[in-house]
Amino acid sequence: MNAPLTLDMANSLTDTEPRTQPAHARQAVETFLSHGTRGPREFGGTVNPPVCRASTIVFENMQDMDERQHAIDHDEPGVMWYGRKGTPTTFALQESIAYLEGGYRTLLASSGLAACIAALSAFVKAGDHILMSDSVYGPTRHYAKVILARYGIATTFYDPQIGAGIERLIQPNTRVIYVESPGSQTFEVQDIPAIAECAHRHGARVVMDNTWASPLYFKPFEHGVDVSVQACTKYITGHSDALLGSVTTTKDAWQEIRNHVHVHGLNAGPDDVYLAQRGLRTLAVRLERHQRNALEVAGWLAAQPQVEQVLHPALPGAPGHELWKRDFKGASGLFGLVLKPCTPQALRNFVDSLELFHLGFSWGGFESMIMPQEAMPEREASSWPYAGPLVRLHIGLESPADLITDLKAGFAYL
Ligand SMILES: *Cc1c(COP(=O)(O)O)cnc(C)c1O
Repeated sequence: MNAPLTLDMANSLTDTEPRTQPAHARQAVETFLSHGTRGPREFGGTVNPPVCRASTIVFENMQDMDERQHAIDHDEPGVMWYGRKGTPTTFALQESIAYLEGGYRTLLASSGLAACIAALSAFVKAGDHILMSDSVYGPTRHYAKVILARYGIATTFYDPQIGAGIERLIQPNTRVIYVESPGSQTFEVQDIPAIAECAHRHGARVVMDNTWASPLYFKPFEHGVDVSVQACTKYITGHSDALLGSVTTTKDAWQEIRNHVHVHGLNAGPDDVYLAQRGLRTLAVRLERHQRNALEVAGWLAAQPQVEQVLHPALPGAPGHELWKRDFKGASGLFGLVLKPCTPQALRNFVDSLELFHLGFSWGGFESMIMPQEAMPEREASSWPYAGPLVRLHIGLESPADLITDLKAGFAYL
């Protein structure tokens, strides 16, 4: 009779205490990224946990099945039970992300959006109320406004810069305050500790979309967040070739999230999980370069006559800079650019003329991207102060001098 098949990692996976991982805790994050959640002994010496494909998991016998059932009932991580509940490929990435975000445990979903929605809806039932930042990722806004409304769950949008003022919007039935900082379209930095303090005093959970900073540059659980979501599609995967989301929780919020995710059949395909784990190994190096390149391009842009405002929280004097400096450990490569008012055709000509900035939605890969907003950002609780068009830039790993040359040539069309 074999014990339940678990992934034997440096840190014990059967430990249900918070993921403090004393061995790793003494090491720098770069060392964890290289060495964490690898189990070469388990896989014949391979450096990376391999892609493990499974629906059915076969049990040795009835007793084996009973023992695994017991482990599942006691919420032990890393138990092979059925493919949907994960395999060693999944467990390794979950363990990495939980550690990096500083949370208790992590579950994976097939996209960032699926993760956002799972985290948001796990805590609400008919008659409940959600407070959501006005700067939230568009599809999350749509889900709250259209889908949750259909189930009798009301959402009030709030000014992302509200801070402790959120208190006056909290109702007796407010269950979730949803934050995204900075907003991935408009880049307002939120006062998460102030919002979390109010939320907890009123028994509400704080759910955060932490995609912009990645787990390396913002530590959600040190700032009072209960559940942190990553669109791993972005920086964690880092190569624009997989879709994946993660939900990481405090110990206190874990059971509700776990039950919700499992009952909805959310899981992630092993190839995408593998690609995310592979991307994660180089996250620190890539982010450092994205940060440096983006600041160089943003600094150049801020001095151009065609530019009204650069929305980059790490740029001194830019909106949200002081809060960013207080709470974040770094900045990624995504920021906004408000141009001086121009004709729609001039904007289109500018975008179409660029050779190194490709037009597309996603970001967080090694390549530079541009996405103009043809309409003003959707706003319900705050006003958008700029008249000119908003353009979102993702600065990749190219030479910033080449990127600036490309933008300079494009500006001739404005
Ligand atoms: C891209 C993105 C998502 C959604 O991720 P997908 O994997 O594309 O579904 C969620 N939140 C933010 C902030 C994003 O940028």
